[in-house]
Amino acid sequence: MDYFAGIEAGGTKFKCIIASGPEDVLAEAVFPTTNPEETLPIVTNFLQEAAKRLKITLRGAGLACFGPLDLDTHSSTYGWITSTPKIAWRNYPILQYFQENLKIPVLIETDVNGAALGEGRWGSAVGVSDYVYITVGTGIGGGVIHNFAPLFGMTHPEIGHMKIQPHPDDPFPGNCPYHTTCLEGLANAPSLAARWNADPALLGDDHIAWKFEAYYLGQAIHNLILVCAPKKVILGGGVLRRKGLIERTRAETVEILNGYVESRYLEDMNEYIVPPALGDRAGVLGAIALLLD
Ligand code: ZN
Repeated sequence: MDYFAGIEAGGTKFKCIIASGPEDVLAEAVFPTTNPEETLPIVTNFLQEAAKRLKITLRGAGLACFGPLDLDTHSSTYGWITSTPKIAWRNYPILQYFQENLKIPVLIETDVNGAALGEGRWGSAVGVSDYVYITVGTGIGGGVIHNFAPLFGMTHPEIGHMKIQPHPDDPFPGNCPYHTTCLEGLANAPSLAARWNADPALLGDDHIAWKFEAYYLGQAIHNLILVCAPKKVILGGGVLRRKGLIERTRAETVEILNGYVESRYLEDMNEYIVPPALGDRAGVLGAIALLLD
């Protein structure tokens, strides 16, 4: 059996795994994200010590990383974290760090594309060639998979920042410092907290916040359907743990589409907009999926 290291580099924590797949996880750990000088040696050390203890040779490492990232293979800063608000990580060559220190092949993707590929290999989108993965939490990230690979042009898409029309009954001016009322600025967890002046987890299931939230997510999915024509939409993240929100989002999507797109894929919305299947391990397993594709 070939074993790989999966690293999910997140804004608050690094998750690491040694596995061949979801049914065969040999080691797993989580470390806080502080600064590169502190965090990266801890991660490297964990993986190397675990491999030694398990008496296995790691075939490679996959890195699903927070961004923005430079993923242009012709760029001199390929594999770097670029303009992040986390100053310690700004313009940091994270891919090169792991290549030099792990001394095995390392591949890098955005955290959301990593999770999307994990869902494609083992989760909610097995066998689906074209799909979108959206995660709604502290930020809103999304991966667009086209023909089994992440869509990538001049850079990776940033679907969390698409402009969204505010609900007619919602006077909230939006929370994104770049675009005010983009999807993140209306629908991520900090926007909800700012809009309702409360921890969103404390709002009741029937609070109007969730009506607006479903309206915004439905609008975003409508836009993605028209632009990317995905065969499936995976909708996850902390905010989607809210009971009933995915159902309401399906209904809003149908309402906003207004019958315009006819496709057999849209006949059963319960099969079209689905939760992720890999749970908390989507990112680290997705990092491993990078090496298998
Ligand atoms: Zn924005």
